[in-house]
Amino acid sequence: MKEKAREARLEQRVVGLVPTMGALHAGHLALVERARQECAPLYASIFLNPKQFAPQEDLSRYPRPLEADIQKLTAARVDGLFLPEAAEIYPRGYATYVDVEGLSDRLEGKSRPGHFRGVATVVLKLFEIVQPHRAYFGRKDAQQVRLIEQMVRDLNLDTEVVVCPIVREADGLAMSSRNTYLSAEERPAASVLHRALNAVAEAAARGVGDAIELQRVLRKVLEGERRARVDYAEIVDAETFEPVVRITRRCYALVAAYVGRARLIDNLLIKPDGEDLRVEL
Ligand code: AMP
Repeated sequence: MKEKAREARLEQRVVGLVPTMGALHAGHLALVERARQECAPLYASIFLNPKQFAPQEDLSRYPRPLEADIQKLTAARVDGLFLPEAAEIYPRGYATYVDVEGLSDRLEGKSRPGHFRGVATVVLKLFEIVQPHRAYFGRKDAQQVRLIEQMVRDLNLDTEVVVCPIVREADGLAMSSRNTYLSAEERPAASVLHRALNAVAEAAARGVGDAIELQRVLRKVLEGERRARVDYAEIVDAETFEPVVRITRRCYALVAAYVGRARLIDNLLIKPDGEDLRVEL
């Protein structure tokens, strides 16, 4: 992988990378599509990173449809798939980790101790191996992409992080490899994350800039769905991921909730624009 990417860089070509954990869906393929327009060669990686899963999490049952993934990436015309083994990425005696302070302790990091350390470590390793000019991530994992941007800045990495919009199912459910955990009865309930964020979007569009009020709107819709168990539902600053009282800068409404055994996350971006608030679901 290193040799291939190095050759391309020497030929002054723009190297792109789309890192994934596999079980590919239209959200992943949207990243590939965008990247293919901007990069050649474009590499995708599939690596189910054990270090970003806590012991009681779903690593062992995470879907691994490798043949279908390869077909999708071939159809999407990526130039190569980087598919390392866990033992290649973390050989015996592996000892080095990346900790992004502050951001790693809040929200997703608080609910999933060690998760962001695993994410930052593997993304740095992927960036070192491929040394892409551009790497593509989804805004669905808003805190993850903010963490990666922080790492890139702090460690003077030469990779540009490109953030792509959230791809959703027809009822608004954000696409996720974990959606396959939902039973037929649970599936309709899973759209409550989107319904709740949509209610916040409507309130913000009406000019509600009070974060406490927006949080109330968010939680009220979530509480109306008995199949959903909320982990967190917050309005936070888009840079620091600290709570805010008013929307005066870019903010996120963030939700994490369990529906059955699926842990789902979603978010809404809220941006002040003069007197108005603009939203991106
Ligand atoms: P994962 O395989 O879950 O690690 O995701 C790989 C990349 O795809 C990450 O950058 C995710 O943010 C992105 N991604 C996952 N689901 C979506 C989605 N529904 N829309 C946009 N990007 C997504």
